[in-house]
Amino acid sequence: MISLPPAFTERMTRLLGNESKAFFEALNNPSPSTIRLNPLKMGLQLPFPELIDKQIPWCSDAYYLKERPVYTLDPLLHGGAYYVQEASSMFLQTVLQQIAGSQPIRALDLCAAPGGKSTLLATCLPENSLLISNEVIKSRATILKENIIKWGCDHVIVTSSDPGRFTKLKGAFDLVLVDAPCSGEGMFRKDEKAISEWSENNLRLCEERQKRIISDIWDTLTPGGHLVYSTCTYNPGENEGILNWILDTFDASPVEIRHNYPTIVPTRPPLHGYHFYPHQTDGEGLFMCVIQKNDGTPFSLKKDKRTSQSPTVKLPADILPLLPDLTRYTPYLAGETLGIIPKQHADFIQYLSTQVGVLYKGCEIGENIKGKTKPAHALALYHRLRHQHTTRQEVDLPTALQFLRKEDFRFDAPQGEWILITYKGVGLGWVKEVGNRLNNYYPKEWRIKNL
Ligand code: SAM
Repeated sequence: MISLPPAFTERMTRLLGNESKAFFEALNNPSPSTIRLNPLKMGLQLPFPELIDKQIPWCSDAYYLKERPVYTLDPLLHGGAYYVQEASSMFLQTVLQQIAGSQPIRALDLCAAPGGKSTLLATCLPENSLLISNEVIKSRATILKENIIKWGCDHVIVTSSDPGRFTKLKGAFDLVLVDAPCSGEGMFRKDEKAISEWSENNLRLCEERQKRIISDIWDTLTPGGHLVYSTCTYNPGENEGILNWILDTFDASPVEIRHNYPTIVPTRPPLHGYHFYPHQTDGEGLFMCVIQKNDGTPFSLKKDKRTSQSPTVKLPADILPLLPDLTRYTPYLAGETLGIIPKQHADFIQYLSTQVGVLYKGCEIGENIKGKTKPAHALALYHRLRHQHTTRQEVDLPTALQFLRKEDFRFDAPQGEWILITYKGVGLGWVKEVGNRLNNYYPKEWRIKNL
């Protein structure tokens, strides 16, 4: 039995009435294990078909598992072929289907680490969209960057800045997701720390912080743009309380999300908010709502906002066969590292980098060393890497794990060539044969340690 704060128990009993018994029972049941596939890498392949229980109804490519595998020991996880994400959070896909439209948009995921909702956005935004994935806490932003690189896209920019730093980007985003830092009541059965840190005073601090965050970024929405606000708490002050405060404070309208999932509990009209309770829906506690901004002016990159153009960068010839059609991309050089960003967003990305701290952009390609390209690790994970133009070595499970532990291993390989290591066809990283050994270029800070 988990031990809950009495004030929390009292409130939930009052709130849920005769459903509360089922709610408290559910808090003592194990959380379901759930994954969301990366369709760009997996196609129709399932990572562990024998463990698949059923599909998650509100998100395509997402599954409940019969039991929790040791994810760390699955090379496909390290190759970004799927993401281990809590089921309720994936409702974001249903929300996006309604609000994102079909034209390219600019989206900001403001509180993004470790990257569950950002990887979902990266997959589900309309084609040619741009995603800014931001996390203020530096150590968490590092993990976010790793997860974004593994997901293997070229239209995501990872930033690490306080929400207040986005103020000059007025009207820049069609969609802003605030998956707010909250009291975490919905995570009680997964995370004991959420219980030990709970206090009524902390609920108030969370509410104040949520208001501050939303005030900071509200004007970054374009007129007609959508704010998706979510928490993993049941505390009405952080949910309906914040939704009411937004509608009272700004020129904004609530948006109703149409769906067919009767276990999702709606808030009382005229508010439109959606609750996930573990006794009703197979997942953790979650609240999500959408608000549309009515006023403002759209962002435009006027001359004064444009920073001096960076010199044109030419990618070395030896790497070109591995890359997609470059007419849609702008190459860049950051320090020694070459990379590409989507051409249609290049001016905006350049302006963005004058405002906020950019940690990663587009897809890193590699470094030019004495006229030859040393491929970036990100390139091995890039879903548009043209595998057929690489020298490839498909490996079995024990070898893949040796590679991911950054251990030495051997196979017959052509001298001096960069070799892409793949597992079940998914790129994991690079090795190079140098004389009498194979150099393992798996990033040291990402290697599997707990085997
Ligand atoms: N969206 C993430 C996902 O799906 O993986 C989870 C985000 S978590 C609920 C909230 C995030 O907000 C945390 O990563 C936390 O570090 C960040 N955060 C904490 N304080 C913040 C603040 N003052 N402004 C913005 N973000 C903050």
